[in-house]
Amino acid sequence: MTDRPATPPLRAVRMAANCPICGKPDATGYRPFCSKRCADIDLGRWLKEGYRVPTDEGPGEDEPGSGRGPTGQGS
Ligand SMILES: [Zn+2]
Repeated sequence: MTDRPATPPLRAVRMAANCPICGKPDATGYRPFCSKRCADIDLGRWLKEGYRVPTDEGPGEDEPGSGRGPTGQGS
């Protein structure tokens, strides 16, 4: 009874991690990506976000000089 097909059942295939970039099956050496290209793309995204250094200072909402609002309470 060894007439089984060489192909393993789907279940046997370890949950293949697909490339998060293009969705293709990952490749050995570039996991979890399918190729160096996709790995680079992901790395690029990573670096991009890293460049965005959060600053303590806000975008400048507090403008000096504007003591009171335009619609002050006039008596
Ligand atoms: Zn890919």
